[in-house]
Amino acid sequence: MKLFIHRKDLRIHDLAGFDYLHETGAESIHLLILDPFLLRGGREKEHSGRNFLQHVRRLKQLYEQHGHQLHIVYGEPEQVLDYVLEQQPIDEVVVHRDFTPYAKERDRKLRQMADQHGAAFTLLVDHMMIHVEHFAEFTGKDGYYKIFAPFHRKWLDFLSQHPNPVSSTSIKELKLSSRAIDWPERFQLPFQLEDYEPAGEPAPLLQHFLAKQVADYGEERDYYAIDPSSGLNPHVVLGAVSVREMYDRASLEQGSEEWIRQIAFRDFYLYQAIYDEDYFRYEKRYDLSGLDDRYFEAWYKGETGIPVIDASMRQLNETGRMHNRLRILSAMFLTKNLQCPFTLGEQYFRRKLLDYDNIINRGNWMWCASLGANSAPYFRVVNPVTQSAKYDPEGDYIRQWLPELKDLSIKEIHQPRPDAIVDLKRSRAAAIETYKGIVQSL
Ligand SMILES: Cc1cc2nc3c(=O)[nH]c(=O)nc-3n(C[C@H](O)[C@H](O)[C@H](O)COP(=O)(O)OP(=O)(O)OC[C@H]3O[C@@H](n4cnc5c(N)ncnc54)[C@H](O)[C@@H]3O)c2cc1C
Repeated sequence: MKLFIHRKDLRIHDLAGFDYLHETGAESIHLLILDPFLLRGGREKEHSGRNFLQHVRRLKQLYEQHGHQLHIVYGEPEQVLDYVLEQQPIDEVVVHRDFTPYAKERDRKLRQMADQHGAAFTLLVDHMMIHVEHFAEFTGKDGYYKIFAPFHRKWLDFLSQHPNPVSSTSIKELKLSSRAIDWPERFQLPFQLEDYEPAGEPAPLLQHFLAKQVADYGEERDYYAIDPSSGLNPHVVLGAVSVREMYDRASLEQGSEEWIRQIAFRDFYLYQAIYDEDYFRYEKRYDLSGLDDRYFEAWYKGETGIPVIDASMRQLNETGRMHNRLRILSAMFLTKNLQCPFTLGEQYFRRKLLDYDNIINRGNWMWCASLGANSAPYFRVVNPVTQSAKYDPEGDYIRQWLPELKDLSIKEIHQPRPDAIVDLKRSRAAAIETYKGIVQSL
């Protein structure tokens, strides 16, 4: 008997783990553990936690529709594993790899626990387009790619020679066990999963985007008022749709290069997190002591007096969504103009973003804050007013999220309010000075 544990792979077809189980021909028990550490701080009430639990609910329904049971429990993964291995004749635990420091440590403990019970522990790669070890062999490079552009070229090359196609294995091909497990009280969920609506389906979104929008994505993606991006990411970060499927289907469409480039971006950050030893500790490597949290509250409440920043924070707080261009404006404004440590913004996004992903969020925040190898130069401080006028020329986005400004003219609407907390020109000059020192402190 095998035990398969779902993580950021909340779907029932095209999973590396399902291929593996199918090949063994063995029966399997399927489990999803709600980890108190990952839900800490009331995250189940925040957008990112709600998105996760809605996808868990959807996954449970998908299992039920196929006449199978997905065991869902709440508890320390190690203790849950100990219990289930004690109760059931399991000879192998199968999971997908994740590369955050927490996930690596968790999996080390799970492996130890499996060892203690005499069960094998198999980690498979599922959530990237490339298999990193094979990619490293392919590049023949001593070291890893630190900059996106050469990585991207090699990535395309690699995939053209080593395709990673969609798998045809689905839950229908597996032999799921119907053994009942008597879960003790301590593993019961502290909330009702039924209180969460099942997440919507990613397939129609992908279908619509590829049929109607992908060819214009490169030209239009930054025009956030019309938002021509796919909106798929809240599904992608939880593996409700596989990146293989996104890549394969996009490859068949004319003009999809720019969108596929974004998939490469995602792989790039995941790859950095594996190879860059400082990825999760840059805040300790640089001297950030000159930064402070003076303006942090005004930023997250959307009370800075810079209309596009306040509108985007209001949208984030209310919906959990924020377009990529607005994330850049907002993150640069916080880290540069307001001279606030990037980690505060990063943690705020952790709670608020529907599509929060630890590795990708961090990589993008560091890019905006000019930290790490692949980042904006320290003197790059985008001007939110000119960007707002460029990408939302009519001011529609601002009017939608800041209705109190709806009567302002097109000329006025993008401008800082009289009570803006900083002067853009002066704060830009100060930021350049400060960040020059920070990048030199490494
Ligand atoms: C400060 C900041 C924080 C961010 N935090 C996150 C986060 O927590 N989780 C997250 O997945 N993305 C994050 N991003 C990246 C990006 O904003 C989102 O991936 C994008 O907005 C998703 O929009 P979409 O669903 O319309 O995808 P599309 O624009 O249609 O893109 C398709 C896919 O490409 C990938 N992608 C797109 N842009 C990026 C990017 N800049 N970096 C890496 N992958 C990308 C995503 O996987 C996405 O599903 C952040 C960006 C910034 C600037």
